[in-house]
Amino acid sequence: MNRSGALQEIYGCIRDVPDFPKPGILFKDITPLLLSPTRFRRVVELMAAPFQEARVSRVVSIESRGFLLGAPIALALDAGLVPIRKPGKLPSARGRVEYALEYGTDALEMHRDAVGPGDRVLIVDDVLATGGTAGAATELVRTHGGEVVGLTFLIELDSLKGRARLKGERVEALLHYA
Ligand code: AMP
Repeated sequence: MNRSGALQEIYGCIRDVPDFPKPGILFKDITPLLLSPTRFRRVVELMAAPFQEARVSRVVSIESRGFLLGAPIALALDAGLVPIRKPGKLPSARGRVEYALEYGTDALEMHRDAVGPGDRVLIVDDVLATGGTAGAATELVRTHGGEVVGLTFLIELDSLKGRARLKGERVEALLHYA
């Protein structure tokens, strides 16, 4: 099947859930996609493809749905897999970045020995919304000396302008919604 046919099938596997986790949010649920090995495999191939020649040494994936995509993408690129997690989850020495939310702040952590100078890093998550999370992950990787070669998302919510917040970075997304 060609790329656009495959993408149409993948769009058909994303479920819209209104008012989750709170009123006014239209949640993009990727779990129907995970039920189809053919389409899930295609997503992994399509998300990894732009970075096949980028000599990626680490795939950094963001808790928690980012893990589902990051793990097979790391294998496809023959790269190490690094989880970025919410505070209090990682057991060993960690670096931390705090970032602003609409109300208040949040933080992300990464093991200190997971990324270092010389690493070429691809950041993976399921959804790019405002770009706050991905921006924080980018900062965390750079603080550890890693080079961010790009960021790849299954879904981009175009109207939230996350891409503008990631200005200067290489950003790829398979599916686009207003
Ligand atoms: P943001 O920092 O605004 O770009 O939000 C990105 C994070 O929130 C990602 O880890 C997404 O998994 C999650 N997220 C934001 N908006 C949605 C949405 N409409 N549906 C599903 N996940 C979302």
